[in-house]
Amino acid sequence: MDEMPELLKRAQALAEARNHRLLPFMRRGRGKESRCVTCARQVYVLPDPSPIGAVIGGDAISDTGIRKLPVAVKT
Ligand SMILES: [Zn+2]
Repeated sequence: MDEMPELLKRAQALAEARNHRLLPFMRRGRGKESRCVTCARQVYVLPDPSPIGAVIGGDAISDTGIRKLPVAVKT
């Protein structure tokens, strides 16, 4: 099952909740990434199982804009 569309939707929602507007997601390695149209902060999505499951992260969706540990998303 392809979980990517759902993960991308969640990443976009997280960014929009912080008033970022994302460019279309581009493939990067096994995941995808995008950045904000206005402030160029990044969002990335990794669909593959890591020890904590799929990952959504990036400075556009952290509260401070400083890169932190990725946000873990339960799948
Ligand atoms: Zn922004």
